[in-house]
Amino acid sequence: MGANLNYLLNNIPDSKGLNAYTRDKFFSKLLEFYVGKDLLNQIENKFVELGECVGSEVEDLALSADKHPPKLVKRLRDGSSSNTVQKHPDFIKLEKIAFEKFGLAAMSHRSGVFEMQNILPPIIKYGLTFLFVQNEFGLCCPVSMTDSLTRTLKKFGDERLINKFFDQLTSQDLDELFQGAMFMTEQHAGSDVGSIDTFAENINGQWYLTGDKWFCSNPDADLAMVLARYDKKTKGTKGLSLFLLPKKLENGQHNNYEIIRLKDKLGGRSFASGEIRLNKAFAYIVGEKKEGFKQMTDMINMSRLSNGVRASGMMQRCLQESLFIAKTRSAFNEKIINLPLIRKQLLKMLIITEASRTMVFKAADILEKADKGDTEAQKIFRIITPLIKFRACRDVRKIAGDAMEIRGGSGYIEEWMDPKILRDAHLGSIWEGTSNIISLDTIRALKKADNLHVLKTFLINLVHERSIKENEKVLLSTIDEVFNFVFQEIKDDYEASSRQITSLLYYLCSAVFLNAESYYCTSLYHRKKISELIIKYKINENNPLQRNEIDYKLVNEYL
Ligand SMILES: Cc1cc2nc3c(=O)[nH]c(=O)nc-3n(C[C@H](O)[C@H](O)[C@H](O)COP(=O)(O)OP(=O)(O)OC[C@H]3O[C@@H](n4cnc5c(N)ncnc54)[C@H](O)[C@@H]3O)c2cc1C
Repeated sequence: MGANLNYLLNNIPDSKGLNAYTRDKFFSKLLEFYVGKDLLNQIENKFVELGECVGSEVEDLALSADKHPPKLVKRLRDGSSSNTVQKHPDFIKLEKIAFEKFGLAAMSHRSGVFEMQNILPPIIKYGLTFLFVQNEFGLCCPVSMTDSLTRTLKKFGDERLINKFFDQLTSQDLDELFQGAMFMTEQHAGSDVGSIDTFAENINGQWYLTGDKWFCSNPDADLAMVLARYDKKTKGTKGLSLFLLPKKLENGQHNNYEIIRLKDKLGGRSFASGEIRLNKAFAYIVGEKKEGFKQMTDMINMSRLSNGVRASGMMQRCLQESLFIAKTRSAFNEKIINLPLIRKQLLKMLIITEASRTMVFKAADILEKADKGDTEAQKIFRIITPLIKFRACRDVRKIAGDAMEIRGGSGYIEEWMDPKILRDAHLGSIWEGTSNIISLDTIRALKKADNLHVLKTFLINLVHERSIKENEKVLLSTIDEVFNFVFQEIKDDYEASSRQITSLLYYLCSAVFLNAESYYCTSLYHRKKISELIIKYKINENNPLQRNEIDYKLVNEYL
């Protein structure tokens, strides 16, 4: 299906109908670089199919679901009490696309998705999510929660518990599917997880939870991972255990908790986030009693990466739209793409957006190796997850605003996707850890054992894999300069530099990874230029008293 051509008459560009996968000139080659030709050949039709769907059906459904948030039903008409969330039918249609048709929550856990004999590598899931989120952000939360809950359960739960729920958690049938959630935050305990005081009581060998959870996304999920204190005398995170809370008890009755109300949110309006009061709710303990927080960290880290993927996907959507508008909208008797200031805006959006894509694709690649037991990859993954969560989730806020402005006045109007993306874009940097908390986590990861040295060596080796040319000397010297600074700040334990360090390392890693991609084939060679611009504008000082030359050629690559 092609785009609506009305804009030729009325100068209001509308890309609806364009395939979100094929409109993106470099998506296919980048996937090929990361997954190899064989797997891409087997799976690319799914990207094309989802791209088609995202560019048309998903856009309609997402705009509608955004305008019709879910409702909490406390009582039925016969007076009986209820504890359910009523989703809008268009949101349910989106669920069918994500959970059923594309198996996004199942594909990392079992074979059979797309009739594949093997479990698909993380990059396929993240690549498809990157595409899906370009028009629907909200549903990606329940999908990611279900996916990461299954992973955490598989990793730490006992076999009986895994077997009990695995098939439902990985089902591609909405009627069978058990969705997941994660309840940690309390009114006084968000960043400060160690102050959680929801209490876990053991009665005759079974666990019961009592307390108030202040932020619970996907509150009517069938299963939720919950952090609760098993021993009131043990303060901080050490006194927390991890529990699996089922919505329904064995006898079919609702478990002993109540959804008090739903939050009226700025963004992510299509899905529910609520407050939950647990009143001796039955729960299964997961893994080691004293390891609750450590085990939950695995789920949190997967959600953090997923947040980065979503931020990156939304940025790509903003970039693609802005390019489309610039090519088709006219002002002063010419296409606005020909105006130097528009080119400069596009260039700025482009380098930040592509840096984020490279970071999330590379993270997915590293995660695959880490999960296979590669210890270097485990260390690198531990560091780059907070880098991505921090920077990409902040960058998308700006890119969403820039894209809105490139559409002009229409960008501010609710019938377009821009206002929704702008609202959604602001959530990623708050939940799953605010920017400050994430930057402190980066420092924690860097301080662990020899992690900092491992990262530096990893980056240098990646550069050395190519013959040293003039611009690689710049890359190598930048690695040295950045790490000298980071080593010193960490040695001085200067906490106020945490965000600066997190940003620096993010952009440095992206420059190295972009450079590596550029050697794969001529159509990715432009990534060397992006790498250079990242070094120039995001790491080395940008002098406002100097003219910034606009590299028209790089923007041309995207037209
Ligand atoms: C829409 C939405 C959905 C959510 N869904 C869930 C969910 O499903 N499950 C769940 O458990 N939680 C969920 N949350 C909660 C979310 O993760 C927390 O709100 C977030 O972690 C911040 O915690 P807080 O609100 O208690 O703020 P606080 O932790 O009180 O933070 C307030 C400010 O203090 C800063 N701050 C705190 N500590 C430090 C420090 N040591 N150094 C520097 N600055 C610091 C923070 O950066 C922030 O700016 C959701 C939140 C939202 C908005």
